[in-house]
Amino acid sequence: MSKRAYNFNAGPAALPLEVLERAQAEFVDFRGTGMSIMEMSHRGKVYEEVHNEAESRLLSLLGDVKGYKVLFLQGGASTQFAMLPMNLLSQGKVASYVHSGSWADKAIKEAKLIGETQIVASSEANKFMSIPDLSGIQLSDQSAYLHVTSNETIEGTQYQVYPDTGNIPLIADMSSDILSREIDLNQFGLIYAGAQKNLGPSGVTIVIAREDLISESPKNIPTMMRYNTHLSNNSLYNTPPAFSVYMVNEVLKWIGEQGSLAGLEKINRKKAQLIYDTIDNSGGFYRGPVEAGSRSIMNVTFRLTNEELEKQFIKESEQEGFIGLKGHRSVGGLRASIYNAVPYESCKALTDFMLHFQKSNG
Ligand SMILES: *Cc1c(COP(=O)(O)O)cnc(C)c1O
Repeated sequence: MSKRAYNFNAGPAALPLEVLERAQAEFVDFRGTGMSIMEMSHRGKVYEEVHNEAESRLLSLLGDVKGYKVLFLQGGASTQFAMLPMNLLSQGKVASYVHSGSWADKAIKEAKLIGETQIVASSEANKFMSIPDLSGIQLSDQSAYLHVTSNETIEGTQYQVYPDTGNIPLIADMSSDILSREIDLNQFGLIYAGAQKNLGPSGVTIVIAREDLISESPKNIPTMMRYNTHLSNNSLYNTPPAFSVYMVNEVLKWIGEQGSLAGLEKINRKKAQLIYDTIDNSGGFYRGPVEAGSRSIMNVTFRLTNEELEKQFIKESEQEGFIGLKGHRSVGGLRASIYNAVPYESCKALTDFMLHFQKSNG
C-alpha cells in the first residue's frame, strides 16, 4: 500500500483512498472505451451516464425529496456568492444575510454589488466565535431569501439547527459541511458547495435547489450566470468539468458504502469528539476558542498559550507526517479539517501527537 499523509488540509482536502484507487484503475481506459473520461465527448452516452448517476446519487443521499434539482457548475462557491442574488434578488426585494464569519462576509460583499442587502444577525461582536442565535428571527415580506453559511471553515463554527424561515427561502453555503450529516432538504430553497472539501476534487460546484426557484431567471443577466440555462440543459449547456463530476460520483458511491449520511455523521461526530476532548482535558494547554454550542465537526480550531509554541507545534507535527494543521492566515492558531474522507485513524494519530507534544512542552 502507498504511503498516505495524515491530511488535515482545509481545501482542497483529503479524498477517500478507495476512490483514488478506483479512479487510478480506470484512468487510462474508462470502462472499455480505450479513452480516459477526460478525452471523450460530454455529449456521449458514456459520460452522460456518469453525469446523471451523480445527480441521482446526490438526491438519493438527501432522501429523494420531491421537487429538487441538481446543477453542476463551475467557478466555485465564490461564483455562487454573486450568481445567487443575480437570479433570486429581484427589484423591490431585499437579500437577508447572517454575518457569521469570513465566508459569510464574502457572500454579503458580493450580494451588495447586485442589489439591496441586509444583515439580520451577526456574531461579529463575538469575533465570530459563535453562530448567531436565530431562534426568534423575523424576516420582512420583502426578503427574497435568507442566506446562512452552514459551516464557517476558517473560524470553525457550524449551525447546530437551521432557522425556520417560513415562506422565505432558506439558502445555505454548505461548501465545508455538505453531506457530512443528515439534513432535511425540505428546509432549504437552495444549497450550494464547491466540491473540494467534502465531495471530490476542485472544479465543480454543486447547486441543489427547489426547481421552482431556479426555473425562471431574469433575462437581462448573462446566459452562463442564469440558473435556468443550466437547469434546462441538464448542466450540459457548455462543457462540464467531466473528470470532477466523475470523481464526485465515485465519492458519492463511497458515501453510500459508509452507511450514507447517518453512518458518516456518526463517524464524523466521533472524530470531532476525540479532538475536542483532547483540547478540553488538557488543563488549558490547548484552548478551543469557539463557543461550545457552535463548534464545528468539520473544522476544529484550537490555540496554544502563545504563538511561539503554536509555530513549534506546526513544525514538529509536519515532521511526524501531519499536513495542514496551520490555522487560516487571517485568524492564526491551529485548525484540523476533518472532512468526510479523513479517517478516524488520522484523528487518533493527531490526538496521540497532541498528548505527546503537551508532555514535552507543558
Ligand atoms: C471554501 C469555501 C468557499 C469558497 O469556495 P471556492 O470553491 O474556492 O470558491 C465558500 N464558502 C465556504 C464556506 C468555504 O468553505
